[in-house]
Amino acid sequence: MKLYDTASGKPQDLSPIDGERFRFYCCGPTVYGPAHIGNFRTFILQDVLRRTLEIGGLHTYHVRNLTDVDDKTIKGAIAADIPLETFTQGWTEKFHADCAALNCLPPHDEPSAVAHIPEQIQMIESLVEKGHAYHADDGSVYFKISSFPEYGRLSKLDERELDLGRTQNERTSTADEYEKDSLSDFVLWKAHKEEDGAYFWESPWGKGRPGWHLECSAMIQKYLGDSFDLHSGGVDLVFPHHENEIAQSKCACDGEFANHWFHVTHLLVDGRKMSKSLGNFYTLGDLEEKGYSAMEVRYTLLGAHYRKPMNFTLDSLHAAREALGKLSRAIHEFQEEYGVREIPAFKDSCQEKDFGLFQDAWNILQFDLNTQACIGKVFAQLKRLKALSKSDAKDSWIGLNAVLHALGVRVPTFTPPTQVTIPPEITELAEKRAVAKAQKDWTTCDTLRDELKGQGWQVIDDKDGWQVKPL
Ligand code: AMP
Ligand code: ZN
Repeated sequence: MKLYDTASGKPQDLSPIDGERFRFYCCGPTVYGPAHIGNFRTFILQDVLRRTLEIGGLHTYHVRNLTDVDDKTIKGAIAADIPLETFTQGWTEKFHADCAALNCLPPHDEPSAVAHIPEQIQMIESLVEKGHAYHADDGSVYFKISSFPEYGRLSKLDERELDLGRTQNERTSTADEYEKDSLSDFVLWKAHKEEDGAYFWESPWGKGRPGWHLECSAMIQKYLGDSFDLHSGGVDLVFPHHENEIAQSKCACDGEFANHWFHVTHLLVDGRKMSKSLGNFYTLGDLEEKGYSAMEVRYTLLGAHYRKPMNFTLDSLHAAREALGKLSRAIHEFQEEYGVREIPAFKDSCQEKDFGLFQDAWNILQFDLNTQACIGKVFAQLKRLKALSKSDAKDSWIGLNAVLHALGVRVPTFTPPTQVTIPPEITELAEKRAVAKAQKDWTTCDTLRDELKGQGWQVIDDKDGWQVKPL
Protein backbone atom coordinates (compact mmCIF):
# COMPACT_ATOMS: atom_id res chain seq x y z
CA MET A 1 0.00 0.00 0.00
CA LYS A 2 1.15 3.53 -0.73
CA LEU A 3 0.50 6.54 1.43
CA TYR A 4 1.63 10.15 1.14
CA ASP A 5 4.31 10.99 3.69
CA THR A 6 4.32 14.54 5.09
CA ALA A 7 8.07 14.47 5.72
CA SER A 8 9.23 13.49 2.23
CA GLY A 9 6.24 15.05 0.46
CA LYS A 10 5.78 11.86 -1.60
CA PRO A 11 3.64 8.76 -1.59
CA GLN A 12 5.62 5.91 -0.07
CA ASP A 13 5.18 2.18 0.38
CA LEU A 14 4.07 1.07 3.80
CA SER A 15 5.89 -1.95 5.11
CA PRO A 16 6.89 -2.74 8.68
CA ILE A 17 10.46 -1.91 9.70
CA ASP A 18 10.69 -5.12 11.70
CA GLY A 19 9.17 -7.18 8.88
CA GLU A 20 6.42 -8.40 11.20
CA ARG A 21 4.01 -5.84 12.52
CA PHE A 22 3.15 -2.41 11.25
CA ARG A 23 3.56 -0.36 14.42
CA PHE A 24 1.93 3.03 14.50
CA TYR A 25 1.02 5.84 16.86
CA CYS A 26 -1.85 8.32 16.72
CA CYS A 27 -2.09 11.40 18.89
CA GLY A 28 -5.28 10.86 20.83
CA PRO A 29 -7.94 13.12 22.30
CA THR A 30 -7.62 15.61 25.11
CA VAL A 31 -10.35 14.35 27.41
CA TYR A 32 -11.88 17.58 28.69
CA GLY A 33 -15.13 17.52 26.71
CA PRO A 34 -16.78 15.56 23.91
CA ALA A 35 -14.74 15.00 20.77
CA HIS A 36 -16.31 16.69 17.75
CA ILE A 37 -16.76 15.15 14.33
CA GLY A 38 -13.69 17.06 13.07
CA ASN A 39 -11.61 15.05 15.54
CA PHE A 40 -13.41 11.97 14.30
CA ARG A 41 -12.49 12.70 10.69
CA THR A 42 -8.91 12.11 11.78
CA PHE A 43 -9.64 9.10 14.01
CA ILE A 44 -11.81 7.46 11.35
CA LEU A 45 -9.17 7.88 8.65
CA GLN A 46 -6.58 6.34 10.97
CA ASP A 47 -9.01 3.48 11.51
CA VAL A 48 -9.44 3.02 7.74
CA LEU A 49 -5.67 2.94 7.35
CA ARG A 50 -5.40 0.20 9.96
CA ARG A 51 -8.26 -1.83 8.48
CA THR A 52 -6.84 -1.52 4.97
CA LEU A 53 -3.41 -2.67 6.11
CA GLU A 54 -4.92 -5.61 7.96
CA ILE A 55 -7.07 -6.75 5.05
CA GLY A 56 -3.97 -6.34 2.89
CA GLY A 57 -2.24 -8.94 5.06
CA LEU A 58 -0.26 -6.94 7.62
CA HIS A 59 -0.41 -7.35 11.35
CA THR A 60 -0.68 -4.00 13.05
CA TYR A 61 0.10 -2.54 16.44
CA HIS A 62 -1.87 0.63 17.05
CA VAL A 63 -1.12 2.92 19.99
CA ARG A 64 -3.15 6.03 20.74
CA ASN A 65 -2.71 8.18 23.82
CA LEU A 66 -5.16 9.96 26.07
CA THR A 67 -4.21 13.46 27.16
CA ASP A 68 -5.61 13.49 30.67
CA VAL A 69 -3.54 16.33 32.10
CA ASP A 70 -2.96 19.70 30.46
CA ASP A 71 -4.16 23.29 30.78
CA LYS A 72 -7.68 22.42 29.57
CA THR A 73 -8.31 19.28 31.63
CA ILE A 74 -7.13 20.96 34.83
CA LYS A 75 -9.26 24.00 34.15
CA GLY A 76 -12.27 21.79 33.42
CA ALA A 77 -11.87 19.68 36.57
CA ILE A 78 -11.48 22.76 38.76
CA ALA A 79 -14.52 24.42 37.17
CA ALA A 80 -16.58 21.23 37.63
CA ASP A 81 -15.26 20.93 41.18
CA ILE A 82 -14.44 17.25 40.82
CA PRO A 83 -11.09 15.42 40.92
CA LEU A 84 -9.15 15.53 37.65
CA GLU A 85 -9.25 11.74 37.41
CA THR A 86 -13.04 11.63 37.71
CA PHE A 87 -13.38 14.46 35.21
CA THR A 88 -11.15 12.87 32.55
CA GLN A 89 -12.55 9.38 33.18
CA GLY A 90 -16.05 10.60 32.28
CA TRP A 91 -14.88 12.15 29.02
CA THR A 92 -12.76 9.11 28.20
CA GLU A 93 -15.82 6.89 28.51
CA LYS A 94 -17.78 9.22 26.28
CA PHE A 95 -14.97 9.14 23.71
CA HIS A 96 -14.88 5.34 23.76
CA ALA A 97 -18.64 5.14 23.33
CA ASP A 98 -18.49 7.49 20.31
CA CYS A 99 -15.60 5.49 18.80
CA ALA A 100 -17.58 2.27 19.19
CA ALA A 101 -20.70 3.83 17.63
CA LEU A 102 -18.58 5.05 14.72
CA ASN A 103 -17.12 1.55 14.32
CA CYS A 104 -13.52 2.56 15.06
CA LEU A 105 -11.38 -0.34 16.23
CA PRO A 106 -9.96 0.23 19.71
CA PRO A 107 -6.18 0.75 19.66
CA HIS A 108 -4.10 -2.16 20.95
CA ASP A 109 -2.75 0.14 23.68
CA GLU A 110 -4.13 3.41 24.95
CA PRO A 111 -1.67 4.89 27.45
CA SER A 112 -2.51 8.05 29.34
CA ALA A 113 -0.25 10.94 30.30
CA VAL A 114 -1.04 10.74 34.01
CA ALA A 115 -0.13 7.05 34.08
CA HIS A 116 3.31 7.83 32.60
CA ILE A 117 4.72 10.65 34.72
CA PRO A 118 7.93 8.74 35.69
CA GLU A 119 8.67 7.98 32.02
CA GLN A 120 8.25 11.65 31.17
CA ILE A 121 10.51 12.78 34.01
CA GLN A 122 13.11 10.28 32.87
CA MET A 123 13.03 11.64 29.34
CA ILE A 124 13.51 15.20 30.59
CA GLU A 125 16.44 14.07 32.73
CA SER A 126 18.06 12.55 29.69
CA LEU A 127 17.50 15.75 27.66
CA VAL A 128 18.96 17.93 30.41
CA GLU A 129 21.95 15.61 30.74
CA LYS A 130 22.64 15.76 27.01
CA GLY A 131 22.40 19.56 26.91
CA HIS A 132 19.10 19.74 25.01
CA ALA A 133 17.08 21.12 27.89
CA TYR A 134 17.58 23.61 30.69
CA HIS A 135 15.98 24.47 34.00
CA ALA A 136 14.98 28.13 33.72
CA ASP A 137 14.62 30.78 36.40
CA ASP A 138 10.84 30.43 36.40
CA GLY A 139 11.27 26.85 37.69
CA SER A 140 10.16 25.20 34.43
CA VAL A 141 12.32 23.07 32.15
CA TYR A 142 12.52 23.98 28.47
CA PHE A 143 13.71 22.25 25.33
CA LYS A 144 16.43 24.29 23.68
CA ILE A 145 15.48 24.23 20.03
CA SER A 146 18.79 25.72 18.90
CA SER A 147 20.42 22.49 20.14
CA PHE A 148 18.61 20.49 17.45
CA PRO A 149 19.54 21.70 13.96
CA GLU A 150 16.91 19.48 12.33
CA TYR A 151 14.16 21.40 14.12
CA GLY A 152 11.50 22.44 11.62
CA ARG A 153 12.18 19.86 8.90
CA LEU A 154 8.79 18.17 9.05
CA SER A 155 6.85 21.42 8.88
CA LYS A 156 9.35 22.94 6.44
CA LEU A 157 10.04 25.94 8.61
CA ASP A 158 12.84 27.11 6.32
CA GLU A 159 10.34 27.47 3.50
CA ARG A 160 8.20 29.55 5.80
CA GLU A 161 11.19 31.86 6.25
CA LEU A 162 11.25 32.00 10.00
CA ASP A 163 14.40 33.26 11.60
CA LEU A 164 15.06 30.43 13.98
CA GLY A 165 18.25 31.97 15.39
CA ARG A 166 16.73 35.33 16.17
CA THR A 167 13.24 34.36 17.32
CA GLN A 168 14.09 31.49 19.62
CA ASN A 169 16.69 33.46 21.48
CA GLU A 170 15.60 34.10 25.05
CA ARG A 171 12.05 33.21 24.17
CA THR A 172 10.23 30.48 25.93
CA SER A 173 6.66 29.25 25.91
CA THR A 174 4.83 27.53 28.72
CA ALA A 175 1.52 27.23 26.89
CA ASP A 176 0.56 23.69 25.95
CA GLU A 177 -0.40 24.97 22.53
CA TYR A 178 1.17 28.00 21.00
CA GLU A 179 0.49 29.99 17.91
CA LYS A 180 1.66 28.76 14.55
CA ASP A 181 4.81 30.51 13.44
CA SER A 182 5.82 31.63 16.89
CA LEU A 183 9.00 29.78 17.58
CA SER A 184 10.18 29.30 21.08
CA ASP A 185 11.89 26.95 23.42
CA PHE A 186 8.95 24.84 24.49
CA VAL A 187 8.18 23.61 27.95
CA LEU A 188 8.98 20.05 29.05
CA TRP A 189 8.21 20.45 32.74
CA LYS A 190 5.88 23.18 33.96
CA ALA A 191 6.58 24.50 37.41
CA HIS A 192 3.49 24.41 39.61
CA LYS A 193 1.28 27.48 39.45
CA GLU A 194 -1.58 28.45 41.67
CA GLU A 195 -4.19 27.89 38.96
CA ASP A 196 -3.16 24.21 38.75
CA GLY A 197 -4.48 23.70 42.28
CA ALA A 198 -3.79 20.21 43.62
CA TYR A 199 -2.51 18.88 40.32
CA PHE A 200 1.22 18.52 40.48
CA TRP A 201 3.88 15.83 40.76
CA GLU A 202 7.28 15.88 42.46
CA SER A 203 10.31 15.97 40.16
CA PRO A 204 14.03 16.79 40.30
CA TRP A 205 12.96 20.36 39.36
CA GLY A 206 10.34 20.67 42.06
CA LYS A 207 6.57 20.42 41.95
CA GLY A 208 4.99 20.63 38.54
CA ARG A 209 3.59 18.67 35.61
CA PRO A 210 4.79 17.61 32.19
CA GLY A 211 4.27 19.83 29.14
CA TRP A 212 1.79 18.53 26.57
CA HIS A 213 4.26 17.66 23.80
CA LEU A 214 6.32 15.39 26.01
CA GLU A 215 3.76 12.69 26.77
CA CYS A 216 3.69 11.36 23.20
CA SER A 217 7.49 11.10 23.02
CA ALA A 218 7.69 9.29 26.36
CA MET A 219 4.86 6.88 25.58
CA ILE A 220 6.13 6.21 22.08
CA GLN A 221 9.48 5.23 23.50
CA LYS A 222 7.85 2.89 25.98
CA TYR A 223 5.37 1.24 23.60
CA LEU A 224 7.04 1.50 20.21
CA GLY A 225 10.73 2.00 20.89
CA ASP A 226 13.16 4.41 19.25
CA SER A 227 12.02 3.76 15.66
CA PHE A 228 8.56 2.79 14.45
CA ASP A 229 6.52 2.72 11.28
CA LEU A 230 4.08 5.60 11.24
CA HIS A 231 2.91 8.57 13.24
CA SER A 232 -0.37 10.36 12.68
CA GLY A 233 -2.69 13.20 13.63
CA GLY A 234 -4.65 16.05 12.10
CA VAL A 235 -2.66 18.62 10.09
CA ASP A 236 -2.82 21.12 12.95
CA LEU A 237 -0.39 18.87 14.81
CA VAL A 238 2.44 19.09 12.26
CA PHE A 239 3.67 22.26 13.89
CA PRO A 240 4.51 22.62 16.68
CA HIS A 241 3.36 19.35 18.28
CA HIS A 242 4.96 16.82 15.95
CA GLU A 243 7.99 19.01 15.37
CA ASN A 244 8.48 19.09 19.14
CA GLU A 245 7.96 15.36 19.49
CA ILE A 246 10.68 14.75 16.89
CA ALA A 247 13.06 17.09 18.69
CA GLN A 248 12.47 15.49 22.10
CA SER A 249 12.62 11.91 20.87
CA LYS A 250 15.56 12.22 18.52
CA CYS A 251 17.59 14.02 21.17
CA ALA A 252 16.68 11.67 24.02
CA CYS A 253 16.69 8.36 22.11
CA ASP A 254 18.87 6.73 19.51
CA GLY A 255 16.47 5.84 16.72
CA GLU A 256 14.93 7.52 13.72
CA PHE A 257 11.56 8.05 15.44
CA ALA A 258 8.71 7.82 12.86
CA ASN A 259 9.43 6.35 9.47
CA HIS A 260 6.29 7.83 7.96
CA TRP A 261 4.01 10.80 8.80
CA PHE A 262 0.30 10.61 8.02
CA HIS A 263 -1.72 13.81 8.52
CA VAL A 264 -5.43 14.26 7.94
CA THR A 265 -6.69 17.58 6.58
CA HIS A 266 -9.32 19.44 8.54
CA LEU A 267 -13.03 19.14 8.56
CA LEU A 268 -14.39 22.63 7.95
CA VAL A 269 -17.60 24.46 8.66
CA ASP A 270 -18.27 27.41 6.36
CA GLY A 271 -14.65 27.32 5.29
CA ARG A 272 -13.20 27.39 8.81
CA LYS A 273 -11.67 24.55 10.80
CA MET A 274 -14.25 22.82 12.98
CA SER A 275 -12.94 23.43 16.47
CA LYS A 276 -14.06 23.87 20.03
CA SER A 277 -12.41 27.24 20.30
CA LEU A 278 -14.43 28.61 17.35
CA GLY A 279 -17.59 27.03 18.75
CA ASN A 280 -18.57 25.80 15.26
CA PHE A 281 -18.57 22.12 16.06
CA TYR A 282 -20.97 19.20 16.08
CA THR A 283 -20.52 16.21 18.31
CA LEU A 284 -21.85 12.80 17.38
CA GLY A 285 -24.51 13.31 20.06
CA ASP A 286 -25.62 16.59 18.43
CA LEU A 287 -26.16 14.81 15.12
CA GLU A 288 -27.85 11.79 16.68
CA GLU A 289 -30.26 14.20 18.32
CA LYS A 290 -31.08 15.54 14.88
CA GLY A 291 -31.98 12.00 13.84
CA TYR A 292 -28.80 10.88 12.05
CA SER A 293 -27.02 7.63 12.77
CA ALA A 294 -23.35 7.22 13.65
CA MET A 295 -22.90 5.24 10.43
CA GLU A 296 -24.27 8.11 8.38
CA VAL A 297 -21.71 10.35 10.07
CA ARG A 298 -18.87 7.92 9.36
CA TYR A 299 -19.91 7.53 5.75
CA THR A 300 -20.06 11.32 5.33
CA LEU A 301 -16.57 11.77 6.76
CA LEU A 302 -15.19 9.30 4.21
CA GLY A 303 -16.62 11.33 1.35
CA ALA A 304 -13.50 13.39 0.62
CA HIS A 305 -9.90 12.39 0.15
CA TYR A 306 -8.08 12.83 3.47
CA ARG A 307 -5.62 15.31 1.98
CA LYS A 308 -8.39 17.64 0.90
CA PRO A 309 -10.33 19.85 3.28
CA MET A 310 -13.94 18.78 3.66
CA ASN A 311 -16.77 21.18 4.30
CA PHE A 312 -19.38 19.71 6.59
CA THR A 313 -23.08 20.33 6.01
CA LEU A 314 -26.22 18.62 7.25
CA ASP A 315 -27.11 18.00 3.60
CA SER A 316 -24.09 15.73 3.30
CA LEU A 317 -25.68 13.55 5.98
CA HIS A 318 -28.85 13.26 3.89
CA ALA A 319 -26.72 12.20 0.95
CA ALA A 320 -25.02 9.59 3.16
CA ARG A 321 -28.41 8.24 4.21
CA GLU A 322 -29.47 7.88 0.60
CA ALA A 323 -26.21 6.23 -0.38
CA LEU A 324 -26.40 3.74 2.48
CA GLY A 325 -29.98 3.00 1.49
CA LYS A 326 -28.91 2.27 -2.08
CA LEU A 327 -26.11 0.03 -0.86
CA SER A 328 -28.49 -1.76 1.43
CA ARG A 329 -30.88 -2.50 -1.43
CA ALA A 330 -28.06 -3.57 -3.76
CA ILE A 331 -26.65 -5.96 -1.16
CA HIS A 332 -30.09 -7.41 -0.53
CA GLU A 333 -30.65 -8.00 -4.25
CA PHE A 334 -27.16 -9.48 -4.60
CA GLN A 335 -27.87 -11.91 -1.79
CA GLU A 336 -31.24 -12.86 -3.25
CA GLU A 337 -29.83 -13.38 -6.73
CA TYR A 338 -26.80 -15.52 -5.87
CA GLY A 339 -27.55 -16.93 -2.43
CA VAL A 340 -24.42 -15.26 -1.00
CA ARG A 341 -25.18 -14.60 2.62
CA GLU A 342 -22.29 -14.99 4.98
CA ILE A 343 -20.16 -11.93 5.54
CA PRO A 344 -16.49 -12.97 5.49
CA ALA A 345 -14.66 -12.37 8.79
CA PHE A 346 -11.49 -10.84 7.26
CA LYS A 347 -9.33 -12.25 9.99
CA ASP A 348 -6.86 -13.66 7.46
CA SER A 349 -5.03 -11.90 4.74
CA CYS A 350 -6.98 -11.23 1.58
CA GLN A 351 -3.87 -10.27 -0.34
CA GLU A 352 -4.13 -13.12 -2.78
CA LYS A 353 -7.86 -12.89 -3.25
CA ASP A 354 -9.60 -11.74 -6.38
CA PHE A 355 -12.09 -9.03 -5.48
CA GLY A 356 -14.06 -9.34 -8.71
CA LEU A 357 -15.96 -6.22 -9.65
CA PHE A 358 -14.58 -4.46 -6.59
CA GLN A 359 -10.91 -4.94 -7.38
CA ASP A 360 -10.60 -1.34 -8.62
CA ALA A 361 -12.28 0.03 -5.50
CA TRP A 362 -9.84 -1.93 -3.37
CA ASN A 363 -6.82 -0.89 -5.46
CA ILE A 364 -7.64 2.77 -5.21
CA LEU A 365 -7.91 2.54 -1.44
CA GLN A 366 -4.44 1.06 -1.45
CA PHE A 367 -3.20 4.10 -3.27
CA ASP A 368 -3.08 6.93 -0.76
CA LEU A 369 -6.24 5.82 1.03
CA ASN A 370 -8.55 7.45 -1.47
CA THR A 371 -11.85 6.75 0.27
CA GLN A 372 -13.75 9.15 -1.96
CA ALA A 373 -12.70 7.44 -5.20
CA CYS A 374 -13.14 4.02 -3.58
CA ILE A 375 -16.78 4.77 -2.76
CA GLY A 376 -17.26 6.12 -6.30
CA LYS A 377 -15.94 2.86 -7.73
CA VAL A 378 -18.18 0.77 -5.50
CA PHE A 379 -21.25 2.62 -6.75
CA ALA A 380 -20.10 2.37 -10.35
CA GLN A 381 -20.26 -1.44 -10.05
CA LEU A 382 -23.57 -1.85 -8.30
CA LYS A 383 -25.60 -1.99 -11.49
CA ARG A 384 -23.37 -4.75 -12.85
CA LEU A 385 -24.05 -7.04 -9.93
CA LYS A 386 -27.02 -8.72 -11.63
CA ALA A 387 -25.10 -10.13 -14.57
CA LEU A 388 -22.36 -12.20 -12.96
CA SER A 389 -21.44 -15.85 -13.24
CA LYS A 390 -21.68 -17.83 -9.97
CA SER A 391 -17.93 -17.79 -9.37
CA ASP A 392 -17.57 -14.12 -10.27
CA ALA A 393 -20.42 -13.40 -7.90
CA LYS A 394 -18.50 -15.09 -5.09
CA ASP A 395 -15.34 -13.03 -5.72
CA SER A 396 -17.33 -9.84 -6.00
CA TRP A 397 -19.21 -10.65 -2.80
CA ILE A 398 -15.91 -11.04 -0.95
CA GLY A 399 -14.57 -7.92 -2.68
CA LEU A 400 -17.55 -5.77 -1.77
CA ASN A 401 -17.42 -6.89 1.84
CA ALA A 402 -13.65 -6.39 2.00
CA VAL A 403 -13.97 -2.82 0.79
CA LEU A 404 -16.85 -2.05 3.15
CA HIS A 405 -14.93 -3.63 6.01
CA ALA A 406 -11.85 -1.53 5.19
CA LEU A 407 -14.00 1.59 5.13
CA GLY A 408 -15.59 0.43 8.38
CA VAL A 409 -19.03 1.02 6.88
CA ARG A 410 -21.81 -1.15 8.26
CA VAL A 411 -24.63 -1.10 5.75
CA PRO A 412 -28.06 -1.17 7.38
CA THR A 413 -30.17 -4.26 6.80
CA PHE A 414 -32.58 -3.78 3.94
CA THR A 415 -36.17 -3.22 4.94
CA PRO A 416 -38.68 -3.14 2.12
CA PRO A 417 -40.52 0.16 2.03
CA THR A 418 -43.99 0.01 3.56
CA GLN A 419 -46.85 2.14 2.47
CA VAL A 420 -47.16 5.03 4.88
CA THR A 421 -49.87 7.61 5.07
CA ILE A 422 -48.57 11.05 5.86
CA PRO A 423 -51.01 13.05 7.98
CA PRO A 424 -51.91 16.40 6.38
CA GLU A 425 -50.57 18.40 9.36
CA ILE A 426 -47.17 16.79 8.83
CA THR A 427 -47.17 17.67 5.14
CA GLU A 428 -48.14 21.20 6.10
CA LEU A 429 -45.19 21.52 8.51
CA ALA A 430 -42.82 20.13 5.88
CA GLU A 431 -44.14 22.58 3.32
CA LYS A 432 -43.61 25.48 5.71
CA ARG A 433 -40.06 24.28 6.24
CA ALA A 434 -39.45 24.16 2.50
CA VAL A 435 -40.60 27.77 2.23
CA ALA A 436 -38.32 28.80 5.13
CA LYS A 437 -35.45 26.96 3.47
CA ALA A 438 -36.04 28.72 0.17
CA GLN A 439 -35.89 32.01 2.09
CA LYS A 440 -32.70 30.85 3.86
CA ASP A 441 -34.44 31.29 7.20
CA TRP A 442 -32.38 28.58 8.88
CA THR A 443 -33.72 29.18 12.38
CA THR A 444 -37.32 28.52 11.28
CA CYS A 445 -36.07 25.59 9.22
CA ASP A 446 -34.45 23.99 12.27
CA THR A 447 -37.43 24.68 14.51
CA LEU A 448 -39.80 23.04 12.03
CA ARG A 449 -37.47 20.09 11.57
CA ASP A 450 -37.39 19.63 15.35
CA GLU A 451 -41.17 19.93 15.52
CA LEU A 452 -41.52 17.22 12.89
CA LYS A 453 -39.03 15.09 14.74
CA GLY A 454 -41.00 15.51 17.94
CA GLN A 455 -43.99 14.06 16.11
CA GLY A 456 -41.96 11.11 14.83
CA TRP A 457 -41.16 12.31 11.30
CA GLN A 458 -37.97 13.20 9.53
CA VAL A 459 -37.74 15.53 6.61
CA ILE A 460 -35.22 14.72 3.90
CA ASP A 461 -34.07 17.15 1.25
CA ASP A 462 -33.17 15.64 -2.08
CA LYS A 463 -32.55 16.80 -5.58
CA ASP A 464 -36.28 16.71 -6.35
CA GLY A 465 -37.23 18.80 -3.31
CA TRP A 466 -38.11 17.15 -0.01
CA GLN A 467 -39.88 14.15 1.43
CA VAL A 468 -41.02 13.14 4.88
CA LYS A 469 -40.51 9.71 6.35
CA PRO A 470 -41.36 8.17 9.70
CA LEU A 471 -38.36 8.23 12.05
P1 AMP B 1 -7.48 17.14 20.22
O1 AMP B 1 -8.41 16.38 21.12
O2 AMP B 1 -7.87 18.58 20.03
O3 AMP B 1 -6.04 17.00 20.65
O4 AMP B 1 -7.59 16.53 18.75
C1 AMP B 1 -7.61 15.14 18.47
C2 AMP B 1 -7.28 14.91 16.99
O5 AMP B 1 -8.24 15.55 16.14
C3 AMP B 1 -5.92 15.48 16.56
O6 AMP B 1 -5.30 14.55 15.69
C4 AMP B 1 -6.28 16.75 15.83
O7 AMP B 1 -5.30 17.10 14.88
C5 AMP B 1 -7.57 16.32 15.14
N1 AMP B 1 -8.46 17.45 14.75
C6 AMP B 1 -8.81 18.53 15.48
N2 AMP B 1 -9.69 19.32 14.79
C7 AMP B 1 -9.88 18.72 13.58
C8 AMP B 1 -10.68 19.01 12.41
N3 AMP B 1 -11.47 20.10 12.35
N4 AMP B 1 -10.61 18.17 11.35
C9 AMP B 1 -9.84 17.05 11.40
N5 AMP B 1 -9.08 16.71 12.46
C10 AMP B 1 -9.09 17.51 13.55
ZN1 ZN C 1 1.25 13.61 20.05
